Amino acid sequence: MQFYCESLTQYKRLTTREVKIGDLLLGNHHPIHVQTMTTTDTMDTMATVEQSIRCIEAGAELVRITAPSKKEAENLLNIKNELRKRGYSTPLVADIHFTPNAAEIAARIVEKVRVNPGNYVDKKKFELIEYSDADYADEIDRIRERFTPLVKICKEYGTAMRIGTNHGSLSDRIMSRYGDTPMGMVESAMEFLRIARAESYHNIVLSMKSSNPQVMVQAYRLLIKMMFDEFGECYPLHLGVTEAGDGEDGRIKSAVGIGSLLEDGIGDTIRVSLTEDPELEIPVCRDLVKRYTSQESGVRSQELASSTLKLPYDPFSYQRRETFAVDNIGGKQVPVVIADLSKIDKIAPQHLQSVGYTYDEATDKWNISDAAADYIFTGHQLLGFHLPGTLKVIVYPAAWEAASDKEKYFPIFQDSGFVSAEQKSEKLNFVMVDCFSDEITINDFSYLDQLANDPSVVLCLSSTNQNAMQSVRRMFIELQNRQIRNPVILITDSGWQTPDEHLIHFATETGALLLDGFGDGICLGYSSKAQMENVKAKGRTYLEVNDIYQFTNNTAFSILQATRTRISKTEYISCPSCGRTLFDLQETTAKIRARTNHLKGVKIAIMGCIVNGPGEMADADFGYVGSGPGKITLYKGKEVVKRNVNSEVAVDELINLLKENEAWIEP
Ligand code: SF4
Repeated sequence: MQFYCESLTQYKRLTTREVKIGDLLLGNHHPIHVQTMTTTDTMDTMATVEQSIRCIEAGAELVRITAPSKKEAENLLNIKNELRKRGYSTPLVADIHFTPNAAEIAARIVEKVRVNPGNYVDKKKFELIEYSDADYADEIDRIRERFTPLVKICKEYGTAMRIGTNHGSLSDRIMSRYGDTPMGMVESAMEFLRIARAESYHNIVLSMKSSNPQVMVQAYRLLIKMMFDEFGECYPLHLGVTEAGDGEDGRIKSAVGIGSLLEDGIGDTIRVSLTEDPELEIPVCRDLVKRYTSQESGVRSQELASSTLKLPYDPFSYQRRETFAVDNIGGKQVPVVIADLSKIDKIAPQHLQSVGYTYDEATDKWNISDAAADYIFTGHQLLGFHLPGTLKVIVYPAAWEAASDKEKYFPIFQDSGFVSAEQKSEKLNFVMVDCFSDEITINDFSYLDQLANDPSVVLCLSSTNQNAMQSVRRMFIELQNRQIRNPVILITDSGWQTPDEHLIHFATETGALLLDGFGDGICLGYSSKAQMENVKAKGRTYLEVNDIYQFTNNTAFSILQATRTRISKTEYISCPSCGRTLFDLQETTAKIRARTNHLKGVKIAIMGCIVNGPGEMADADFGYVGSGPGKITLYKGKEVVKRNVNSEVAVDELINLLKENEAWIEP
């Protein structure tokens, strides 16, 4: 395999080995299966059965249950029997951390066990150890000795296994040699995979989860390449973003990570980890997966043969495409957000409130939020009121010619229209480029060479092609190969129906490109006005949308935040909760959010238990971790600063901690 997927310019599903989990077949082009994990106490058989049923009824095709020790592993039998008695044959997965004994029991009961190679054998002490090659080989022998019995049991019982690496819980051994890098994550799984293969056991699925979609996407890509290079084949992949959080942000973060990989045909099963009831994860999974059911039969006439394709960027590490700056777009500046208000008949000051600008009549001032759009697109309209100082307007050329303030208004041309236009802005011109549809071939882009590197031109790339993301990516490859360094705005329209579908569409299409370093701005829109109005009428699947412009603008900023290209708000890393959780995660997350959501750029982890929480809170600045019934331990980075605080005062103590560390500002 030259890169990491079958095609970079078309949707093509990656071929993986077939794996059997109970009666469910995974990989080898079988449908992408959706799954979730229970949050009940595994010792509470009936609660776990009832919750599993709610998940199955919602569409879960696999249900994972935590088995922290031998007694929970044994109780899986009662849970399984009760489910089967009630007519549910959905395969069950035991989630194991730290306890090989529990894994060996569970593997005889359920259809699949998940092990975390970061903590199956190793206990994490956050130690940096120098290993000689001989020492390292000894460590691998130690793992082989402890892991092989489980492999043999799985083989004997026909049980499947997921080797599930988490970015936040890599072993000290891996951290010492590779750091917390995508390569470290891959190697962590490969060590276990090699041991399993040596036993001729192949009923294996792998995952590379992280709460940072950028790290997660790179790790999966690297893993695929490593498997093909070393084994000549690829095992099925389970996709997920860990600790994604809740609400819109959780959905966007998941869609950016999972969606970017699905776009490239990668992924055989997915789980969206939300800090919400597990059955609520399933509709999000389904919205993500249904985008690909008919994709492979679509018309895609523009493929570049991968064998001849030379990639001008590295898909295994992030690097932003090099551009020059045109005004506040491109160069080293954060990506801009353009709000499309062109479907409003008469734009008034109150419309700007939806995109982050609130006019205060008493003081005659505009209040500007952290998530305020940088530009608005108004089509043919010039505005009859004074605009906030930081906001600029994009209009069609005829309107621009009529505009008196050429420092505020800038024209947008349609492809070759810019080259032939008589009047252009000296400072900033936008040029729309429709990338590769059935009618538009590479020969139709000769005009690009005429405007290439014009210091006033910002390109706006979109595609009406079925494989829009791939078509726009192909254009980026073309631009790089032609040494065209103009900044680029990603224009993405959605033709879907519900708010959730729109959100996933936007996050997937633009997220995939931003994670590859492409894009100096984004503009999200809808195929038609009727469809925008529909969003409200369609009501909720999960999300309630009262103001479509605000929803779209917030989505744009959240996508930039999730891709870590522009930080405009507090980041929450909160675990999805499971049978180990020691407090009400949803309620506590909401409480912490309400007090801290004005702290731009601060990363706060909210984790249900001290067993896995600290290891999995990744690169959070502060951590709020359940350490016993009614007890919370607070962290600064990886360091414990307040141990076993009473939960009634723990949120206040967290705020105090933020204050002590100068991470607090008054709201
Ligand atoms: S951190 Fe959260 S999801 Fe992970 S084991 Fe602990 S309680 Fe469960």
